[in-house]
Amino acid sequence: MGNAKRYDVIVIGSGMGGLAAASLLAKKGLKTLLLEKEKQVGGYVVSFKRKGFTIDATGAFVGGCQEGGEFYQILKEIGAHEEIEFIPIHHIRNIYPGFEVHLCDGGFSSYPEALMALFPEEEKGLTAYLSLVKQIGKEVKSYSEITLIKKILFPFTFRNLIRFHRTSHREILNRLFRGGEIKMALHTLPITDPPSRLSFLFTAILISKSLMGGVFYPKGGTGRISKAMADSFLRSGGEIHLQTEVDQILIKDGRVEGALTKEGEIFQGPVVISDVNPNLLVKMLPFEFRKHFEKKIRHFEYSLSCFILYIATDLDLKSMNLPYFTYLRFLSDLEEEDRMFQRGEVPKNPTTMVSIPTLLDPSLAPSKRHLIKVLVNVPYHHQEAWGKGDPGKYSRIKEEFSQKILQQLEGKLIPGLRNHLLFYEAATPLTLERYTGNELGAMYGLASTPQQVGNLRPPHHTPTPGLFQVGHYTRPSHGIVGASLSGSFAARAILKKLHRV
Ligand SMILES: Cc1cc2nc3c(=O)[nH]c(=O)nc-3n(C[C@H](O)[C@H](O)[C@H](O)COP(=O)(O)OP(=O)(O)OC[C@H]3O[C@@H](n4cnc5c(N)ncnc54)[C@H](O)[C@@H]3O)c2cc1C
Repeated sequence: MGNAKRYDVIVIGSGMGGLAAASLLAKKGLKTLLLEKEKQVGGYVVSFKRKGFTIDATGAFVGGCQEGGEFYQILKEIGAHEEIEFIPIHHIRNIYPGFEVHLCDGGFSSYPEALMALFPEEEKGLTAYLSLVKQIGKEVKSYSEITLIKKILFPFTFRNLIRFHRTSHREILNRLFRGGEIKMALHTLPITDPPSRLSFLFTAILISKSLMGGVFYPKGGTGRISKAMADSFLRSGGEIHLQTEVDQILIKDGRVEGALTKEGEIFQGPVVISDVNPNLLVKMLPFEFRKHFEKKIRHFEYSLSCFILYIATDLDLKSMNLPYFTYLRFLSDLEEEDRMFQRGEVPKNPTTMVSIPTLLDPSLAPSKRHLIKVLVNVPYHHQEAWGKGDPGKYSRIKEEFSQKILQQLEGKLIPGLRNHLLFYEAATPLTLERYTGNELGAMYGLASTPQQVGNLRPPHHTPTPGLFQVGHYTRPSHGIVGASLSGSFAARAILKKLHRV
């Protein structure tokens, strides 16, 4: 250890949680090192280049980017808010069996009116639903600014958070609505769990934030977000080592003293923050420190994974008046798809989420060309884990699945697409797992079930002194904003411990 470099803080993994924590700590003057196993920072939030196109690997939306919004505040605190231009997303179309909801200029904020117009007979239920959503949104905001008096008055101040903390979205939908269609329309956020498993509190928070602040797309692609955060980290004196995979977290006399990489390099530091899957974190610890984590991890329920198809086309999609985002659903039973996933199956016509980022930002593609990204939820074990390690079989399964999606897309949304393909490329749950270490390719870390929501998710401190965890397996939630907030909360806890606030 004599020659090992010393830092105040070592962060393992540069996903949104790791980047936010590292940037905030470096900004406060702590000597911070960020270790990332891949060639670029960002985890799931990266873009890659192909033939002059800039392609987002995963996400399509970011919330809280408006001035004063949660994500805006984090970016402002680290000095990155002026480096990204966020384009508001207005044009969204949700297509269901037998009806559709088409949002044009108003974006998400016009969702309630659109539903009122479509389902006047459900007005009473919808008013009650939206009022609950609003109330829960207010309570969550108030919780983030908690004071001693609010703590004393907890049962009164946070009545709805307490009342619904074990409630699924299905319970609320069944209580307030008669028709199946409105239930479908209210369960259409970019989430992967069926109403029976999804927490109502989580749904309400997501809806209240989207209704109030809207959703955005970062100009230049989602990779702009991680780049801007990494740049601000470097400006604050932080150090990034790419292609550096951590193998062990070093512990001496019961507390953290650094990290050892796969290449055998040692970095010393009294604080280590892990932004990796908890199963990977456990394996990095000496045996005697694993027990506590293992007990908890056994009960974790992961979010689903997905198949992603990246398509480049020379079709003039702008003239076809297509929206930026389309949700295409074929099954009326909201639980059916999930039942199939549990059996490792995918429906003949799976639910499909389509985004066309070049409609918002033409600079992502050469002139008169477009990018389409299609996301389909699939279970990790579909098609016998995608070929069971046989590369030929894997390519074949991927190609078959890609063709199925292209056919569906052409039939339902973009006529003539297959005659105008420039290229396409696919990612499976195995791709997601390989690039980020998210076990089973879990898109959102822990599933947002009533048992794994808010403070029921793992905290940022761990029983090992000096070891912290962030990212979408921890509090408060998943997503670009949720994971960034986890980093921000952990950074604050560390600064408080070090008496730097
Ligand atoms: C297909 C898809 C679509 C999504 N769409 C959206 C969306 O539209 N909006 C939204 O808000 N969210 C979306 N999400 C979710 C969101 O991207 C994630 O919840 C969030 O980015 C996770 O951040 P994280 O901090 O947990 O880190 P992760 O992104 O999980 O990154 C972990 C990092 O740790 C690194 N790492 C792992 N092991 C090691 C090691 N041993 N040593 C060093 N480094 C290591 C990995 O390489 C990776 O960079 C989507 C996710 C997916 C998969």
